[in-house]
Amino acid sequence: MTDGLPPLREVIRRHGLRARKSLGQNFLHDLNLTDRIARAAGDLADATVVEIGPGPGALTRSLLAAGARRVVAVEKDPRCLEALAEIAVVYPDRLTIVHGDALDTDVAAAVEGRARIVANLPYNVATPLLTGWLTVEPWPPWFEDLTLMFQKEVAQRIVAAPGASNYGRLSVLSGWRTEAHIAFDIAPQAFVPPPKVTSSLVRLVPRPAPLACATKDLETVTAAAFGQRRKMLRQSLKTLGDAEALLACAQLDGTRRAQDIDVAGFVRLARCLASRRDAA
Ligand code: SAM
Repeated sequence: MTDGLPPLREVIRRHGLRARKSLGQNFLHDLNLTDRIARAAGDLADATVVEIGPGPGALTRSLLAAGARRVVAVEKDPRCLEALAEIAVVYPDRLTIVHGDALDTDVAAAVEGRARIVANLPYNVATPLLTGWLTVEPWPPWFEDLTLMFQKEVAQRIVAAPGASNYGRLSVLSGWRTEAHIAFDIAPQAFVPPPKVTSSLVRLVPRPAPLACATKDLETVTAAAFGQRRKMLRQSLKTLGDAEALLACAQLDGTRRAQDIDVAGFVRLARCLASRRDAA
């Protein structure tokens, strides 16, 4: 990539961007790697890309160089804003910098039409951000896809299949509304400072028509089932009332455990919970 901007190391030094742990800051310096992340997001030409946590802007530069029509970048750390403004000068009218906390910024309102979300997420808010995107209404959502970097262990939970030891609430939610896969891993040495663990880039593509059920009911049944994941369902679902009736309605064997129930099984449980409530 040749955008005429200085190398990241120099940008970071000039703006005194010493990484802060409290903000989950592990910066990427290698523009070849951020170009690879941008490529993994697919064809960005004409896309509006939402980036959470641009930091000094390595990935931002790659997204713009890859042809994104517009990048809306939400950054909490005011120290990064000057460095980001320098990128905006090189790409006039294409970079919108939003200073704020992504957890309480209505990013959807800042984009027109369908957007793509691409980010090297701050690890301390990565799961709540993803959960927020997966539970958004209406569905199909305001974004076309998500290309997100997580700690590898979280990435593996997102894509885990029934029966796997790391299959849990996040896997059910992701599998219900999206098709998710790990694109590639990134070694700790690619970041400054290097985190303790490997990272993985995950691609999530929304399913146009997920099995019908209310998000809150699905969350209620998975919370009960995985809250006591070693117990049989007939035991763990007692927190929801008559577990045997719920299991019969959902055609599930009460001696099975949460780990072995696929997304369709949890959706049936969620629907049965709703119809029991409606009948009451
Ligand atoms: N995108 C940059 C890169 O790849 O080098 C930085 C990634 S760093 C892992 C995470 C970034 O998210 C940091 O710039 C941090 O300041 C920012 N951040 C942390 N918490 C945030 C929040 N709640 N909302 C928006 N940005 C946040």
